[in-house]
Amino acid sequence: MKVFVTGGAGFIGSHLAHRLIERGDQVIVLDDLSTGSMDNIAGLVGRPGFEYRIGSAIDQPLVTELADRCDVTVHLAAAVGVRLIVEKPVHTIETNVGATECVLAAAAKKQKPVLVASTSEVYGKGSKVPFSEGDDLTLGPTSHSRWAYACSKALDEWLALAYWREKGVPVIIARFFNTVGPRQTGRYGMVLPSFAAQAIRNEPITVYGTGEQSRCFGHVGDAVESVLRLLEAPAAVGQVFNIGNDEEVTILDLAKRVREAANSSSEIRFVPYSEAYAEGFEDMMRRVPDVAKLEQAVGYRPRTPLATIIADVVADQRARLAGRA
Ligand code: UDP
Repeated sequence: MKVFVTGGAGFIGSHLAHRLIERGDQVIVLDDLSTGSMDNIAGLVGRPGFEYRIGSAIDQPLVTELADRCDVTVHLAAAVGVRLIVEKPVHTIETNVGATECVLAAAAKKQKPVLVASTSEVYGKGSKVPFSEGDDLTLGPTSHSRWAYACSKALDEWLALAYWREKGVPVIIARFFNTVGPRQTGRYGMVLPSFAAQAIRNEPITVYGTGEQSRCFGHVGDAVESVLRLLEAPAAVGQVFNIGNDEEVTILDLAKRVREAANSSSEIRFVPYSEAYAEGFEDMMRRVPDVAKLEQAVGYRPRTPLATIIADVVADQRARLAGRA
């Protein structure tokens, strides 16, 4: 199989590209290196079956050329990370919607399958536990930039499903819940690599709000396995799937567990949301995926325990910090 991976030098994309090359598939990566990095794919450059292009996923001729040369597209290129979204809303909306339009238009030419990455953010501030794919989406007002990300991704989903219904393009939507693991950087505000780096340096671990908010963290390897299985499941076409682990942890507990795993003496510092993001920022208190639909479709659910995930991320951050020193 030859796979076109947009955003392939990013966190999830680079793990996917590695898995595909390791199992003998061919990959073309397209990435503009805005949040992705050449370091993430350095180990693949020169390997048989691997090709990469530095460019934009809103460059229609380029996207069409690369999609034409592949059997399937996995569309991961997007503006991600809550911090980036709050700071650069124009970039977020234009990148997320524009790139998905390009990818779908390219795939439609020859009816090639596309997996479109979406996010658990689309559930917005709904308080249902767990979130199932058919649930309503509860977004906040347009005056709050945070919701621009969720809304741009929801529009991507509508567009993809419209291409399926109206034009017969085989699409699959993957709603990733908090996905973590080696190579994820804390630069864009993601909590686990940030906590790990702070703990290793014995700096204060910054818990936003009360720390009573909880999340479920899935290992990137499990997310990649889910994507690969969905691509091979005919019943997945035209469907939306949650991809995540349903083991829940509060952010304060996460901070304590990371501190312990890193053998750190860091203090835990509570930072108000208004200081961490912007005035009026709304956080989600709980976000748990219902993964029954995924399991039913592909016979698999992400299960890597949080302890293993934390150990993996701490080891990765240690290696990065040592490399930089
Ligand atoms: N968070 C935190 N400290 C940090 C970064 C994030 O307490 O340094 C909190 C954030 O407010 C949220 C949770 O950790 O409640 C997860 O944040 P992340 O940005 O990783 O993902 P989100 O679930 O918000 O998309």
